[in-house]
Order: sequence, then structure tokens, then C-alpha cells
Amino acid sequence: MRLRHIRGAEETIAASPYVVQEAAQYRGRFCELFGNDHPIRIEVGMGKGRFIMELARQNPEINYIGIERYPSVLLRALQKRAELELPNIYFMCVDAINLADIFAPEEIEKLYLNFSDPWPKDRHARRRLTSPEFMKVYDQILRKDGVVEFKTDNQDLFTYSLESIPEAGWTIKACTRDLHHSEMNEGNVMTEYEEKFSSMGNPICKLIAGR
Ligand code: SAM
Repeated sequence: MRLRHIRGAEETIAASPYVVQEAAQYRGRFCELFGNDHPIRIEVGMGKGRFIMELARQNPEINYIGIERYPSVLLRALQKRAELELPNIYFMCVDAINLADIFAPEEIEKLYLNFSDPWPKDRHARRRLTSPEFMKVYDQILRKDGVVEFKTDNQDLFTYSLESIPEAGWTIKACTRDLHHSEMNEGNVMTEYEEKFSSMGNPICKLIAGR
């Protein structure tokens, strides 16, 4: 998702109390940001953030951080965030390739990837959020027992990920190509893209990977 640049987006984000500014300053001490030592879960590429805000609402004992690279997209999430009173969620406007500079080893308990951009051309494979390059970053920040949960309707990206993730030294712990008719669907929270693509009849794929 890449919305047209919105004038003032950067300034709004820089002034928002819901966005972690200079995120690296909290490296190794994000518990101070939240004021507790609850586990931290992140969504990489959260878009407008509906999924992670709903998780934060349902699970007050878990802390959440939504990561989005584009200010114009994050701005949409901030508009929604302002309507909610949630002490357990923040956002960051950063490229996920830099996450190991922001989080200390094992600081994150779970990482969600939802409907990540497919980057269909081979020469762009390194930009896919399930590429070995990104899995290496997640390996540095996730707890040893932590997992990556990935959903997509893109069959090619899913097939690629079933190969790229083990290639990076991870194990696929569970997997389905029809989430909404699978036992893995229990407690599923739909994302914006998931609603859109499943309403068009596309089956949703999901995998859970750990080490
Ligand atoms: N997760 C949302 C959903 O399922 O509705 C949004 C999906 S949208 C297709 C993917 C989002 O990931 C886009 O908003 C894009 O800007 C963001 N994204 C892609 N690569 C990223 C990166 N390297 N770091 C942070 N965000 C990224």
C-alpha cells in the first residue's frame, strides 16, 4: 500500500504521542515506554493498523507496536488511533530492515506479517518481508521461543515463503492455504486486506514459523 504523499504527514507523525520518536533510544528498554514488562508483539507493514489495534483492544496484558514505512499510510492509522483509549499500543514509521537497530536481541515475543507486498519480480525478491534478508533481522530481535505469523492471499508469495523461510534456518510450525476453513482460524482477527480479498473469494494462506 502506498498512498499519494499527504502534505504535513511527516509533521503530524513527528508530533504524535502515539508514535515512538527516535525509536532506537528505547532499544533494550521498551518496557519503560509501556510502563510494564508485558510481552511485546509487533506487526511489520501494518498499513492502516486495524488488525493490531484490534489485538491491542482484545489483549490488554500484551504490548503492541505497529511498524509502517510510509508516513501517508501511518497517518490513516493515527486518525483511527485517536478514537481509542489504549495504553498498550504504539506505532513506528521505519523501514523494517532496520529493526535490529531498534530492538535488542529477544526483545520481541511475536511478529506478524499480514498481506505483505508481493514484489513479484525476481530482482526485487530481497524486498519481500519473508526473504532470508528480513528473516535474519527477525531472528535477531525475536525471543528464542518467538514466532512469525504470516498471512497472505498471494499464492506465489506464499509458495516462495514456504521455501525462503526454511532457507533462512527457520521451521514452518503450521500452515494452511485456506485459513478461513481451517482450525488455524480460531481467534483470527481480519486485516483490512484480508477483508477485501476474502470478500472477493480469494482463499487466505497462513503460516507460523519458529526456530
Ligand atoms: N498489513 C495490512 C493489511 O493486511 O491490511 C497492510 C498490507 S499492505 C499491502 C503492506 C504494508 O506494508 C504497506 O503499507 C507497506 O508500506 C508496508 N511495508 C512494506 N515494506 C515495508 C518495510 N520494509 N518496512 C515497513 N513497512 C513496510
